[in-house]
Amino acid sequence: MIDLHVHSAYSDGTESPRRLVELAVAAKLSALALTDHDNTNGQAEFLTAAAEVGLRAISGVELSLRDPRFPRPDGRDRSVHVLAYFVTLDEESPFQRLVREMRRDREARNRELIARLVAEGFTRLNYDEVVSRAERPDSLGRPHIANAMMELHPELVGDATTEHRQRIFDEWLGSEGRVYVERQSPSIDTFTRATAGSGIVYSVAHPHLNYRDRSDAATLETDLAPVLATLAERGVRGVESYYGSLSEPLRRRLVKATRDAGLIPTGGSDFHGANRVGIELGRGLSGDLRVPDEILDELIAAR
Ligand code: AMP
Ligand code: ZN
Ligand code: FE
Ligand code: FE
Repeated sequence: MIDLHVHSAYSDGTESPRRLVELAVAAKLSALALTDHDNTNGQAEFLTAAAEVGLRAISGVELSLRDPRFPRPDGRDRSVHVLAYFVTLDEESPFQRLVREMRRDREARNRELIARLVAEGFTRLNYDEVVSRAERPDSLGRPHIANAMMELHPELVGDATTEHRQRIFDEWLGSEGRVYVERQSPSIDTFTRATAGSGIVYSVAHPHLNYRDRSDAATLETDLAPVLATLAERGVRGVESYYGSLSEPLRRRLVKATRDAGLIPTGGSDFHGANRVGIELGRGLSGDLRVPDEILDELIAAR
């Protein structure tokens, strides 16, 4: 059993990379990938801690990219999370150059979001307040902004609970929210082309969240089929089918659709520590996630 989708406090998780390794050992996993959003700053600690206990460790990143080939019904660009595995830590590589660029854009987006919230009455909020509340400043995102909103303005959004956090995304920060700011991310194709031949393997994260505009289980396969059919030619080898927050029957259907498209069904829990209540590392939300070891062997073979 393995887990190929996990966040640390170097992005919007709450646990250190070392602690994630401990949790993986406790869960009897044979391999773990650290996939923080848009940065690799936690990888050194992760690789060291994993080597100490003999856990197989894969360096990954969860990239926020755009997919202009499948625009949203309202015409806006589609934002898609793509997992990158076996990434290079070389700062001068095309991969790290692009990711650095993306972090600059992320910061500009965060500042604009906060400015819009201040104008909407969140007057105690400012960029430094968000930074100081984060465990680390490496890859701040909307989850950190939501945390600061609940702490500084409980009279507007309620105190820190899972329900209030979700309402903040629905009303304010989510793609339908009042202050939503689109990022200028590279497209999937730009990214895979720029890093072709580098041994990095890409897999589309939680495809049901990225590519579907309604969540009707009946249409899962028909909604995703056109997307899956394009991925191989665009340099993407996998699709996250064993996703820890999907029910087992839906996971099984996604695995089949992914295999039918000639792609590798990857998987993971999307663990964020206390920032996603109820998700267990390796075992997901319902506790019955099992990502087979062979998936990692297939990813290695795809390098
Ligand atoms: P960012 O990387 O700053 O764009 O934030 C992305 C993160 O925000 C995701 O990984 C989710 O944890 C969270 N998020 C984004 N949209 C929503 C939403 N509509 N509802 C709940 N959480 C969301
Ligand atoms: Zn996250
Ligand atoms: Fe994601
Ligand atoms: Fe994630």
